[in-house]
Amino acid sequence: MKVLVPVKRVIDYNVKIRVKADGSGVELNNVKMSMNPFDEIAVEEALRLKEGGKAAEVVAVSIGPAQATETIRTALAMGADRGVHVKTDAPVEPLAVAKLLKAVTEREQPGLVILGKQAIDDDCNQTGQMLAALLGWPQATFASKLEVEGTDFKVTREVDGGLQTVKLQGPAIVTTDLRLNEPRYASLPNIMKAKKKPIEEMTADQLGVDLAPRLDILKTSEPSSRSAGVKVASATELVEKLATAGVL
Ligand code: AMP
Repeated sequence: MKVLVPVKRVIDYNVKIRVKADGSGVELNNVKMSMNPFDEIAVEEALRLKEGGKAAEVVAVSIGPAQATETIRTALAMGADRGVHVKTDAPVEPLAVAKLLKAVTEREQPGLVILGKQAIDDDCNQTGQMLAALLGWPQATFASKLEVEGTDFKVTREVDGGLQTVKLQGPAIVTTDLRLNEPRYASLPNIMKAKKKPIEEMTADQLGVDLAPRLDILKTSEPSSRSAGVKVASATELVEKLATAGVL
């Protein structure tokens, strides 16, 4: 079985995001970029399937500008076998990403696609679901455990207040939750080896996908800052204040 893992290049999760002065988006110049953390979990899970003899090949795919190859190289350094880069400088909305991934999936014919549950830059949480719908494949989102049963999959999902276990007939789509695994770091020898692994480049035109945006982002703004708290002298004063504020 082949496993396809879409990996997105996003602002590193340690970076303090700055909104552009004109509100048109967030500052990307001179900002550290990394692989979306949920996608690292997806790559790790695919590698564990391969190491456990359940997968034969792991292919990482990224959609984005030239620098997206760095994200693919990170997946290759972790252990993925090869990469696919759909090169575009245009901003790509989740629907267009899902259409491109559908085209790549049809070319690659994987038994499983593992995506992150969401990209931490826009928190859309849409791509896996739309890809499943476009392909007509079953999906299990927010996976915290994944087992392969022949060509089918048993997935434990994190739901409000508990866990749900579902069985999917492959080929299928799975999206990762935080507790699925702890991704490995790439070792230096593997980083060197990754430089020689193949990355196939293609364009949206070649895949027959129209990237025209369907959404207008009207405004991006910082969260409002919290106002200072007050110190109360006694529990009685606290209860009075809460009662006045309508909390009690
Ligand atoms: P989103 O729906 O934008 O929150 O993204 C969910 C998941 O879709 C991510 O964790 C990735 O696995 C995948 N994805 C989204 N955008 C891209 C992209 N540009 N390239 C590759 N994978 C992507």
